[in-house]
Amino acid sequence: MTPSTELLPNLLGGHWQLGTGPGSTLQDPVSGADLVRVDATGLDLATGFAFARERGAAALRILSYRQRGALLGAAVKVLQANRDAYYDIATANSGTVKNDSAVDIDGGIFTLGLYAKMGDTLGDRHFLLDGDPARLGKDPLFQSQHILSPTRGLALFINAFNFPSWGLWEKAAPALLSGVPVIIKPATATAWLTQRMVRDVVDAGILPAGALSVICGSSAGLLDQLQSFDVLSFTGSAETAAVIRSHPAVTQHSVRVNIEADSLNSALLLPGEAAGSESFDLLVKEVAREMTVKSGQKCTAIRRVFVPEALYASASQAISARLAKTTVGNPRNESVRMGALVNRAQRDTVLQGLDYLRAQTEVLHDGQSHTLVDADAASCCVGPTLLGTRDATGSDASGRVHDTEVFGPVATLIAYRDLGHALHLIRRGQGSLVCSLYGSNAAALAHAAVELSDSHGRVHTITPDVTALHTGHGNVMPQSLHGGPGRAGGGEELGGVRALNFYHRRSALQASSAVLAQLNSAAPT
Ligand code: NAP
Repeated sequence: MTPSTELLPNLLGGHWQLGTGPGSTLQDPVSGADLVRVDATGLDLATGFAFARERGAAALRILSYRQRGALLGAAVKVLQANRDAYYDIATANSGTVKNDSAVDIDGGIFTLGLYAKMGDTLGDRHFLLDGDPARLGKDPLFQSQHILSPTRGLALFINAFNFPSWGLWEKAAPALLSGVPVIIKPATATAWLTQRMVRDVVDAGILPAGALSVICGSSAGLLDQLQSFDVLSFTGSAETAAVIRSHPAVTQHSVRVNIEADSLNSALLLPGEAAGSESFDLLVKEVAREMTVKSGQKCTAIRRVFVPEALYASASQAISARLAKTTVGNPRNESVRMGALVNRAQRDTVLQGLDYLRAQTEVLHDGQSHTLVDADAASCCVGPTLLGTRDATGSDASGRVHDTEVFGPVATLIAYRDLGHALHLIRRGQGSLVCSLYGSNAAALAHAAVELSDSHGRVHTITPDVTALHTGHGNVMPQSLHGGPGRAGGGEELGGVRALNFYHRRSALQASSAVLAQLNSAAPT
């Protein structure tokens, strides 16, 4: 692929259109080469949003879940046919090695495929029943049946830079299956892959006009276009999330909003496991993997690692030994296992965050000890760093590790005294996407999992018998909920058919049994 500074067109209002400003240039985080430009200046947002809301939504709404699922299935085939181009873009623009690009690209296509199949399960209906009819009085004739109808608005997605493919499809799949048109605004830094995937699917003529649009560049003015029946999904930093939450679309027009923000995810080795035991080794392996996959730029990555005090030194040595073997550098070199951070700004933010945490921790494995392969100090490649503290006692001596997300290859090993202490420290993350538990005592694990479930969207519980089966701490499987309470944003995504709830409105239909019996034949116009 030859780098160019081609300006990528936006798709809005049913046609491809170029921004009229100078745009932002996307760069290769290893070589610094300019790749493409994106720009959204001068787009007629009002007309474009109206087109999606009216034309796109109307065309999707008359289809059943099964028919919309078939459209998603056709989109999967187009994406699969173009995978090589997506990998090239990811290497150049995200600086990721093949395995890491796969998490984004194939993870996205897999998720889309799952929702395509779900269309068949949901069948030829146009709305979903929610529970059974409930009697409203002594006489059973007059009843209440809750139903879920697709919202008659559009879905605006404002996404983070780290998953330009998966972040698109994990949201677009349930939205389109629900019959709700999508406008995606990818993060500028990596907008190219999102734009290319949308272009391939739209140009293949699979979806009705207005069903899927993409705006690359500034987010200016997007939220001002939202109306009461639209929905908004935001993935990104807590700072931007706060801006989104205070926008009048949300505060005055009740636009439904889903926020996926940052998270201080944990891994916990339960008491009673020896150094070198199967559970110990499983934790060590997963921590090293989580720190290095996508250079730690995963919202689900393990940031805090809790081990019993007596195992602090052995865990430190074992994780550090694995990290030391990680080759860091240019993802085009086959010997490299960990590529770059996404850009200079991100690299600077990670290094600043590392300094901030280092003031309250010790360095157990120093990322600077890694010699970069085919990359120089000017690149955005940063080696993995394991920090540690024996003093996360709850006295705030090491408070920073519980509230600072360094979005890169950085984690902190933390010693705990007993299980109660560990659970207390984990909760100091104020709500996270995922916590993983390692141990061999099923009863103790079940207890800890329930204890942590109120503050985590997912509790990934690993015993030696699932060594070869488990899906990984950081891998978001579409069958399971993704999202978390508190500082994680309070959002909910995926979770199988549950993902469709966000794109539907619940209504209680109160009527005689005879009317309710006719619901199945009712279809929208
Ligand atoms: P970010 O700076 O907050 O940007 C996220 C998105 O918001 C980008 O598309 C950005 O556009 C846009 N944006 C920026 N300012 C805006 C504004 N005032 N109004 C509307 N949109 C605005 O976050 P990031 O650096 O891309 O992503 C890293 C963060 O995302 C990390 O904290 C990570 O934990 C979190 N994350 C969470 C999840 C999850 O599922 N919980 C998943 C991935 C990432 P521009 O790019 O054009 O500025």
